[in-house]
Amino acid sequence: MKILIVDDSETSRLLLATVLGNAGYCDLAFAESAAEAFDILDVGNPHAGEPDLDLVLMDVLMPGMNGVEAASVIKSNPLLRDVPIIMVTVSDDEETLAAAFQAGAADYIKKPVRKTELRARVASALRLKEETDARKARERELMDLARRLGEANRKLEELSNLDGLTGVANRRYFDKLLQREYQRALREGTEIAVLLADVDYFKDYNDTYGHLRGDDCLKEVAGAITRAALRPGDQVARFGGEEFVVLLPGTGWEGAREVAERIQENVAALEIEHGASRIGPMLTISLGMMSIKADRSVTPESLVNMADCALYDAKRSGRNCVRTGNRDHCTMQDG
Ligand SMILES: [Mg+2]
Repeated sequence: MKILIVDDSETSRLLLATVLGNAGYCDLAFAESAAEAFDILDVGNPHAGEPDLDLVLMDVLMPGMNGVEAASVIKSNPLLRDVPIIMVTVSDDEETLAAAFQAGAADYIKKPVRKTELRARVASALRLKEETDARKARERELMDLARRLGEANRKLEELSNLDGLTGVANRRYFDKLLQREYQRALREGTEIAVLLADVDYFKDYNDTYGHLRGDDCLKEVAGAITRAALRPGDQVARFGGEEFVVLLPGTGWEGAREVAERIQENVAALEIEHGASRIGPMLTISLGMMSIKADRSVTPESLVNMADCALYDAKRSGRNCVRTGNRDHCTMQDG
């Protein structure tokens, strides 16, 4: 461990160095004055790093700044706060000692220095410094652990909101978001739209090409839908099976239709061959959409239900098209 000896008398410095050297402390630095000590400790440098120093032995009586003031300057530096200072003093009058401890000194040794006392006090100060360093290291480790835990939690939270296959949000997340966005739309008196999209003849696709290709197909469709929902508030989610849902806060009929048509264009642009489709050679998608100005007579669930009715309508009228829902009672039929 490294010790800095600050003393204006060369004899004193030599004596302290000899005693410490004999006790096995060989990593020593010397300063003749407070100013020189500050240079060694880099006190004035705001960009200095953790100092490579474990103890200061500080003479009290020195020309220029005395040892008590010097100790106070060192202790007020955040980087040096934990480096213990032992005052080395001729006078052990109450006033000097009080000032030294007030300045942050850890201990004092009376001149002329006695070997055994010096060794014992240095050893004890260094032990304390070691413990402080270890505690700081543990605190840093704990901080680091807490930060990593926080990150892991965020990641987990994120994953629990995502559909494992397609990477878009899952139904669980959509249900939560729908409630939140609907409440917001109610508060702000704004429109809100829901699109439900269903891949046409997907069961036949799976039967023809197998489930692995079916999974790939869903991933591509999810991407095509995501690329169509362009605003930051738009949210795509997998609704279940081959159905996807898009929540469009602040969106009326016109905006919803734009997104729906963009979805159809994007899916067409994928050019996924679908030999079992009764529509054409390529994979297509049907969409139902619903937009309302949020009001308390309509629940968020019924908004989705109206979009679902519209989707059913699209399926019934030949698929590969967009249909709009309405606020009249709609009855769902199986199919
Ligand atoms: Mg002196």
